Amino acid sequence: MTDATIKHDRPNCIGCGACAAIAPDFWYMGEDGKSDIKEAKTTPEGWEELDIESKDFDLNKQAADACPVNVIHLVDKKTGQQII
Ligand code: SF4
Repeated sequence: MTDATIKHDRPNCIGCGACAAIAPDFWYMGEDGKSDIKEAKTTPEGWEELDIESKDFDLNKQAADACPVNVIHLVDKKTGQQII
């Protein structure tokens, strides 16, 4: 478990709903059919980013693992290494 940043390549989300089903405290489905991270900041490219604590890592890793198009990434805050 680690402090991490979630990075969501929202433009390439296909709206399957898996992330919102697995981690509804962090993810919800937007009105355009794609998912959103709650209280995330949005980059100019349309990606969403949110810093999370280590206690919330495993749940969001499950969401990332379940994403069929691999548009959910987790980056280790300490090392900057992309975990998924
Ligand atoms: S699991 Fe992936 S494709 Fe499905 S809604 Fe979430 S981010 Fe989009």
